[in-house]
Amino acid sequence: MPIFTQSEVNLHTHSFYCGHGTGEIGDFVSEALRLGNIKVLGFSEHCQTPDNFYPDRMRYETFETYTDVVNSFREGGYNAVPSLTVLLGAECDWNTQYTNYYRYLKEGAGFNYLIGSVHYFFDKEAQRLLYMGKCRDVKPYLSKYVEEYTQMLSSGLFLFGCHPDLYCYHTEWDKDMESAASEIIACAKENNMPLEVNGQGCLKKHIREDGSIRYPYPVPEFWAMAKEAGVKVCINSDAHNPIHLDTPRARAFASENGLDDLLVKWEITEGKVSLYQ
Ligand SMILES: [Zn+2]
Ligand SMILES: [Zn+2]
Repeated sequence: MPIFTQSEVNLHTHSFYCGHGTGEIGDFVSEALRLGNIKVLGFSEHCQTPDNFYPDRMRYETFETYTDVVNSFREGGYNAVPSLTVLLGAECDWNTQYTNYYRYLKEGAGFNYLIGSVHYFFDKEAQRLLYMGKCRDVKPYLSKYVEEYTQMLSSGLFLFGCHPDLYCYHTEWDKDMESAASEIIACAKENNMPLEVNGQGCLKKHIREDGSIRYPYPVPEFWAMAKEAGVKVCINSDAHNPIHLDTPRARAFASENGLDDLLVKWEITEGKVSLYQ
C-alpha cells in the first residue's frame, strides 16, 4: 500500500490552462523530476462549470483538452514517468448550484481527486463576483465566507480545504477574524478534513501598520488555532508557474508555527487518493 509523506506530494498546481498561469503540463512534470523530492504530482486546474460561470478561468470547452494532456502522462496506469505518479485533479469553488456537477467529476469523469476553495464573494450591489485578493475589507463578506467554506469542508466531495485563511488577505486579525477561524477549524476537525498551508500566499509579503511583515496568507494567528485544535495539515505549492513548484517558505512557515506533527500522509493506490490515518 503506497504511503507518501507530505513532502513527497504536491496536489495543488495550475498550468497555463487556467488562464492566469504559465507553463505547460510537461514543464511542471520536468520541474518535479528536477526537484527530485516530489513523488506524486497532482494537477488541480481551476474547475470551470459547463455554463462558464467563473471569470478568469479556462473555458469549459478547453477542460477536455486539459484532462487529455494530464492523462497522457498517466498512460498505461498511473505511472507513465517511472519515478513520478501524475494525478488528475481540479480545484473547485464551492457553489451549491454545482454540487451535482462536482460529484459527477469526482465519481464519473475519471478525476483522481478534487480540492475545495472559496475564492470569491458575491457583491450584491454590483451583482458580480469579487475576487478575495482584490477585496480591501473582508468584513461585509466574512459570515458568507465561513458559511461557504464550512459547507465545502463538510460536503464529502473534497480531499482537503485549500488556503482556509485566504480571507486574511488584506484584513488584519481581530476578534471577528478569530471567530471565523474558530468555525472553520472546528468544522475541519469534525469532518477530519486537512487544511492547507498554501505556498502561493508565501510568494507575496504585506507590511503591517507596525512595520512587521506577514504573508497575505498563511497567517500565524489562524494556524496557532489550527495547531491547538489538532487539525490535519497539508502543504501545497498552488504553483501557477513551474518555478514555484517547490515550497520552501510554506514548509518553513509550518515548522515555525509548530505544525510539523500535524502534517498528513497520503495513501495513493491506482490513482485513488485518501488520507492515511
Ligand atoms: Zn489560480
Ligand atoms: Zn486557490
